[in-house]
Formats: sequence, structure tokens, C-alpha cells
Amino acid sequence: MTAPLRLRRDADALVANWRWLAKLSGPAACGAAIKADGYGLGARWVLETLARAGCRDFFVATWDEAVALRALPDGCTLSVLHGVRDEDMVVATASAARPVLNTPAQVARWRPTGRSCDVMVDTGMNRLGLSPHDDMSGLRIETLMSHLACADEDSAMNEAQCAAFIALDTPAQRRSLANSAGICLGLDYAFGLTRPGLALYGGIPRAEAVGHIAQVAFPEAQVVQVRRVPAGNTVGYGATFRPARDTDVAVLNIGYADGYLRGFASRGTCGGGRFPVIGRVSMDLIAIDISGYDVGEGDWIGVDYDLPSAGARSGLSQYELLAGLGRRFFRC
Ligand SMILES: *Cc1c(COP(=O)(O)O)cnc(C)c1O
Repeated sequence: MTAPLRLRRDADALVANWRWLAKLSGPAACGAAIKADGYGLGARWVLETLARAGCRDFFVATWDEAVALRALPDGCTLSVLHGVRDEDMVVATASAARPVLNTPAQVARWRPTGRSCDVMVDTGMNRLGLSPHDDMSGLRIETLMSHLACADEDSAMNEAQCAAFIALDTPAQRRSLANSAGICLGLDYAFGLTRPGLALYGGIPRAEAVGHIAQVAFPEAQVVQVRRVPAGNTVGYGATFRPARDTDVAVLNIGYADGYLRGFASRGTCGGGRFPVIGRVSMDLIAIDISGYDVGEGDWIGVDYDLPSAGARSGLSQYELLAGLGRRFFRC
């Protein structure tokens, strides 16, 4: 099987990013969020690569994702962030993974199993989690966690959430508060376990990470056709691009169905900045200006995907850029 679209994944960069985050986590263990298929990179590949480097604590969102990972490498644990529904119980009680309990109903559902679990407590984000005064008795809590709402900003909310987290008196083996951005806030936020996602995969959550985090995901698309577009003609849907002089154009096998969204129209670049994206993004195709370069049918072209700059160009978040990478990439 060959596809005209591939995602080159740099395992060394992934490991180096994890090591930097682990170092910044000090004495805390450093885990990895691998939900949404490892932020689009392939959860199984991330799991195996980071487990070899020494990572032990992994997080997915749902039991579907836990099952899709298959067997865990030796010594690794997996937590399911969305907790456990009635319809998950058969799978969950047979699984090596454990739920992160978020609601009183989930607590009531899990307590009779006597099995270990994690617990998420809400300290101000008002997304998932129990209230500090909810009944957590009778649970065997491995990791007590909370989640920061504004870790990527210098917000008073960070300290307030940290203080509220410290004030909890729920017994647990260890505690965990920080995502990627939270790790950059310093050791006060590390507790016993950190949970980076974005920065593992090349995202820059805060200025502190600039120069330390390397790009991991490199989309590359094959040229389906090249053509010379005479001055005054137009390219693509809506005829939005009309060159003033004769222009050499390559049409690449990538489009919005692959996560290369229309925010890149006339703004994205390929080939390390050499080839501007011209006109609109189609479902399966884009056009680039290759004037002055020798590019032919079948050539592979790198789609520039450094996350901070691609985000600034497209208006998408670094998270969206990764998680949107579609199913048609051959991941290599
Ligand atoms: C996704 C997630 C993380 C990882 O967050 P990043 O911002 O990607 O580092 C950590 N904790 C929880 C609860 C999450 O849902």
C-alpha cells in the first residue's frame, strides 16, 4: 500500500521533547497524553516510543481509545480521562487501564468494584471533575488530579487553582496538575506526576519552551500535476488567484479533508518557505507556486508545519493543527 500523502514522524524529536519536559518536572514523573490518536501522530507509535525512553504514565480520553491501543508495554499504566459510563463497565473492569472519575455517578459506579482509579477534581475550570466536597470515600485513588484553565497565560488563576489543589485533603498515592504549559510554570506545579501532550508533539505552549521543543510531525505530499499558468489566468475554486505573469504551479495531494484547512489558502507555504500556497484549499488538493524551481510530477514536497508559525498563518491552534491530521496520511 502506498499513499500519495505521508506524515513523517521524528521519534528522536519526540523523545527529546519528553526528556526536556521530564527534566523540567524535577522529581515528578512525566507522563504523556496520547488521546485523539496521539494528537494525530498515532497513539500506539507514541506509546511504544516513549515507553522505550522510560515514560510510564499515559492518558487517553475514552475506553474506545484504550482498547485501540491494545496491550500496554511492561510497567506502563493507562488512565481514561473521561471516566466510566454504564456502557463502559464490562470493558473497563476487564482492562488494565483505569478510569479518571469525574462525577458522583462515576464514583458510585466504580466504588463497588474495589479496583483502583484516578480522580479529577475541579479547581475552577468548570469542565470535568468532582467538587472538592463531593464524597470520594472508599476509593483506591492512584492519582488525584486537577486541570489548569489558563496555564498558557500569566493569569492569577494559575496560583489560585494550585492553592485550591494543595488544599484538598483527599488521600491518593500521588497528585498531578500540570499539562505542557503547566510544566513551564515551574516546580510548584509538578506535584508527583505531570501530563504533557502538546509540547511532546512539537507545540510551544509558552515562551519558556522556545528553543527546547522540536518539531515532530512533518506532512509531505506528492505532486499530482504541474502546469504553467499564463498571466491573467486563474487557479482553483473561486478563481481567487490570478498571476500577473506566467507562473509555474504544482498541484499537491493534500487538502482540507486531511486537516489542511482553508485558513492556509494564500497563506500556507511548502518546501521550507520556497513555495507559497496559491488560491483556495480544495478537499484533496492544493496548488503551490513553484516558479524558478525544478519540480515534477511525482515529487514529494514538504508542507511547512512548524506548529507555532503554521498556527499564526492559518488562524488554527497548534492543537487543531495536530489533531486534525486526517486518516489518509501514511504515517512513517
Ligand atoms: C489533554 C490533557 C492534557 C495534556 O494537555 P496539553 O495542553 O496538550 O499538554 C493533560 N491533562 C488533561 C486532563 C488533558 O485532558
